[in-house]
Amino acid sequence: MDLNYSPDEITFRDTVRAWLGENLPAELREKIVAYDHFTRDELLAWHHILARKGWIAPAWPREWGGNNWGPVQRYIFEEECGYAGAPPLVPFGLAMCGPVLIRFGTAQQKAHFLPRIYNGDDFWCQGYSEPGSGSDLASLKTRAVRSGDHYVVTGQKTWTTLAHYADWIFCLVRTGEADQKKQDGISFLLIDMKTPGITVRPLVLMDGGHEVNEVFFDEVKVPTANRVHDEGAGWTVAKFLLSHERMNTARIGTSRRELERLKEFAARQRKNGRPLIEDPRFRDKLTRLEVELTALSITNLRFLDQLRGGRAPGAEISMLKIRGTEIQQMLTELMMQAAGPLAQPLAPLGEAVDFDLFTAGLAPRYANFRKTSIYAGSNEIQRNIIAKMSLGL
Ligand SMILES: Cc1cc2nc3c(=O)[nH]c(=O)nc-3n(C[C@H](O)[C@H](O)[C@H](O)COP(=O)(O)OP(=O)(O)OC[C@H]3O[C@@H](n4cnc5c(N)ncnc54)[C@H](O)[C@@H]3O)c2cc1C
Repeated sequence: MDLNYSPDEITFRDTVRAWLGENLPAELREKIVAYDHFTRDELLAWHHILARKGWIAPAWPREWGGNNWGPVQRYIFEEECGYAGAPPLVPFGLAMCGPVLIRFGTAQQKAHFLPRIYNGDDFWCQGYSEPGSGSDLASLKTRAVRSGDHYVVTGQKTWTTLAHYADWIFCLVRTGEADQKKQDGISFLLIDMKTPGITVRPLVLMDGGHEVNEVFFDEVKVPTANRVHDEGAGWTVAKFLLSHERMNTARIGTSRRELERLKEFAARQRKNGRPLIEDPRFRDKLTRLEVELTALSITNLRFLDQLRGGRAPGAEISMLKIRGTEIQQMLTELMMQAAGPLAQPLAPLGEAVDFDLFTAGLAPRYANFRKTSIYAGSNEIQRNIIAKMSLGL
């Protein structure tokens, strides 16, 4: 097993790093530093810059704009983007619907949707979860009834990230009969968000931000040409997509950047007359976190080495999701502890440290990051997957 990058991979990393240094707009990076939410235009601005460079969909086949990067190069690219403070690439089109269409789409679906996803012409969202059908996704109830050359869709999706920005939603819907095995009666539809009968309502998260929504469908007409794969084969599509969804949840580059920010802050912040970073209890917690993050990146390199050798990903994706999101949450907790009362949104200016962007954004970010162990399949569900795949339970 080789846990080092090869000379070519190091050259690739340096090329990406230098390019990001020159091409990541300062105003987008500043939003990341201030823990601000991105508008649709800002998210698309970064998408367009990467699309022009040809780096927007590296995992796609060449004929659709991909560039043959292997798993290690893709990981290096994502880590460097996270470390540099690039805006997140919205995964719903690029990393979910795109790969689904490449694998299961008709020639017409590919020709129409893939270039639009690549160029950032359409903004997509993911319509899987419903009230009562999150972890137990196959119990979903949104119904699609066939009527000639279209379906009539009625039901509700929930937690739909960025649906308020979206032009299209891909949805799992029930087309089968009640007496069928629940996984067998599901189909996968692409739905234009402008179709009459669709209502989007915001769900405000506990940081006060609007990033998720409820989406209601009231007799929405969807052409049968917008069904991906066979009627009743939606569960096969859903499982394929979920494995893609979890590939990049560890966010190691972002955590490395955040850890450095925490260290910088702890060197400035004073406790008992000396810099916080010299406080033994704080140092202990900080060091443990750094060791955990280093261990995660080594686990990730082990995983990449397996992919390099052509092995299909297995339970490792769940391990990386669990540990990566736990570390993201631990980081926000330690940041709150470091800032103390300054982390309150309306904290008075302390004499220990000037009020700054770092402390101002901490409390909402801490609250927001509770989500990471829930979305993309909760961490409890990931543990069940590990138990099944690795232990045969
Ligand atoms: C910020 C955010 C964004 C999201 N974005 C999207 C999106 O864009 N599109 C989309 O479709 N969905 C989205 N989701 C939904 C997400 O996928 C679900 O929240 C998740 O799958 C959990 O489902 P649930 O909320 O219904 O909780 P439940 O499934 O009701 O689970 C409740 C609790 O019980 C535990 N639990 C449930 N079943 C088991 C079990 N078998 N064994 C052990 N523990 C169990 C869970 O881990 C959890 O702690 C998002 C969620 C969040 C928080």
